[in-house]
Amino acid sequence: MEFQNALTAFESVIGLEVHAELETKSKMFCSCPVVDSTVSNPNVAVCPVCTGMPGVLPVVNQRAVEYALRVALALECEIAETSIFARKNYFYPDLPKGYQISQYEQPLARNGRLKFQTADGEREIRIRRVHLEEDTGKLTHVHRDEETFSLVDLNRAGVPLLEIVSEPDLRSAVEVRAFAASLRTILRYLKVNSGDLEKGVLRVEPNISVRTLGSSELGTRVEVKNLNSFRALERSVDFEIKRQIAEIQTGRQVIQQTVGWDENLGMTVPQRTKEEEDDYRYFPEPDLPPLVIEPEWIDSIREALPELPDAKLHRFIQQYSLSEYDADVLVAERSIADYFEGTVAALAETPQVEVSPKTVANWITGELFGLLNHHGVAIEQAAITPQDLASLLQMVSQGVINQNTAKIVLAEMFASGKPATEIITERGLTQISDRSFITDLVDQVLSANPEQVDEYVHGKDSIARWLFGQVMRSAKGQANPQVVQTELDKRLSALRAAEGH
Ligand SMILES: [Zn+2]
Repeated sequence: MEFQNALTAFESVIGLEVHAELETKSKMFCSCPVVDSTVSNPNVAVCPVCTGMPGVLPVVNQRAVEYALRVALALECEIAETSIFARKNYFYPDLPKGYQISQYEQPLARNGRLKFQTADGEREIRIRRVHLEEDTGKLTHVHRDEETFSLVDLNRAGVPLLEIVSEPDLRSAVEVRAFAASLRTILRYLKVNSGDLEKGVLRVEPNISVRTLGSSELGTRVEVKNLNSFRALERSVDFEIKRQIAEIQTGRQVIQQTVGWDENLGMTVPQRTKEEEDDYRYFPEPDLPPLVIEPEWIDSIREALPELPDAKLHRFIQQYSLSEYDADVLVAERSIADYFEGTVAALAETPQVEVSPKTVANWITGELFGLLNHHGVAIEQAAITPQDLASLLQMVSQGVINQNTAKIVLAEMFASGKPATEIITERGLTQISDRSFITDLVDQVLSANPEQVDEYVHGKDSIARWLFGQVMRSAKGQANPQVVQTELDKRLSALRAAEGH
């Protein structure tokens, strides 16, 4: 055993394996519907094909291939003209066929890349491969009357599954999370997967090793399973890096194994060791011909791809002069980005009233997000349309209502679905900009508070702020703050001048 210097610097080397169920109507090789297995009754979407009865023939779901190609193209992969489905043989109770159909030696796509933003700037991670396979069934382990047994639900067996494997280019837990989140965003943009980690339709499995900094050799890998949130992903990777470094520093060896993440203990727990590679005895699926992709089909799918998050981010910064932070928040969901652009477009119809894109971004990511979170509503379901938000912001810009009133109106628009104008008229919320009315208010407040006025006149500047608040209060918040400020300043400086200060 070599002496380990406690100050040796380590580097972590992390790759990610992602499984995404494809949201097609039917399964990968049969016409059974794809159902939400978290709400559906068990075993209602099952047929002889997805249970692997003797004599049945699988048929490839063309829509699943199309969805897979969308992802592969978005990740800038090279698409294989011919890819091969193989049988991956193993026994498990959720796999009645005794094998899983998957692409092995000749996957659908290779050599892609994904660019994403981190706190330290832009990162690019290489994608090793993207391939198609089928999902397995699901086991539920039950403990009842001192007995333990497992229930099998085959609704999920045969659901199209896309496997995306990165190169081990990731270097920290934070980076792994940012990469996974960015991949999830792309899958949602492409409308092929909901990205719901808790439901298990998107599953991320990092493999982690550490090595001394500067070394080009790879350390022993540990794979983490059972991660159902990005938080768990980040915490587990962080834990594994520290655990492996501690093992090496104390002169022990990292064992190649699969570990699970225990959320409550906040640590990884060994599941099984891998002394050697599993032998799945892959062989080409005899019932399926090679999958041949026509170049014309690839072209038409590429042309139909939506603008992807990274391109949208850069365009938003350029076109709308947004900060990178604001643009990043808006493009995280396609629906939010569309909502933002819808509002900006609605505002552009009346260019005489100016509301900046930055203001729109602030209202969406501030007030509107607050309401959406509070009510647990997605932006697509919100009762406020981009046109509604635009007209509200125009009224603020024109001084019809002030910021605070607008926030109240927005909340009521959200709850009732009524347009801003109707709420403002109904509740008499129009902002008062009338100068003579406001000067009357200012005079009333000044004569009601002679002591404070005296303190101000004798040099206590901070009183001006307090007096401003009193005027706004007496106007029940509906006075135009700029007009109040101007009129109050005029009166106060006249008083100081009269006293010779
Ligand atoms: Zn079926």
